[in-house]
Amino acid sequence: MITNTDKCPSCGHNGLIDKVQEETLTYGGKSMTLHDMHGKFCPECGEGIWDEVSYRRYTEAQEGLVRAIKGDASADIRRIRRKLNLTQAQLALSFGIGKIAFSRYERGESKPPAPVLKLLKLIDRHPDLLKEIQQM
Ligand SMILES: [Zn+2]
Repeated sequence: MITNTDKCPSCGHNGLIDKVQEETLTYGGKSMTLHDMHGKFCPECGEGIWDEVSYRRYTEAQEGLVRAIKGDASADIRRIRRKLNLTQAQLALSFGIGKIAFSRYERGESKPPAPVLKLLKLIDRHPDLLKEIQQM
């Protein structure tokens, strides 16, 4: 569909085309593909403008990717822990690790081991698993 009222902000071409496409983000050697991204694209210069929702998804994915590369998992850990409604000590106890471990991870003082992060992400997706872990 061509909407003639839309002008390309880059080259001024009249008639941007509505498109749904995949967008692949890359940062620091990692990449991530977003599906069903909606936007308007310029057939002349290739400039694209995402709609509001897609733009937000794009920036969120980009921030997530940057965080992942930088290894800054602290914000993620805090978010998941709060969602689970646990104190740092309670979460540490559930995981069978040192009481102050999560306090150090969340303050960025030490990097959480990969298995701890993976377990936490798993629980984030399946919160019911927390009970099972606590019973182990
Ligand atoms: Zn253009």
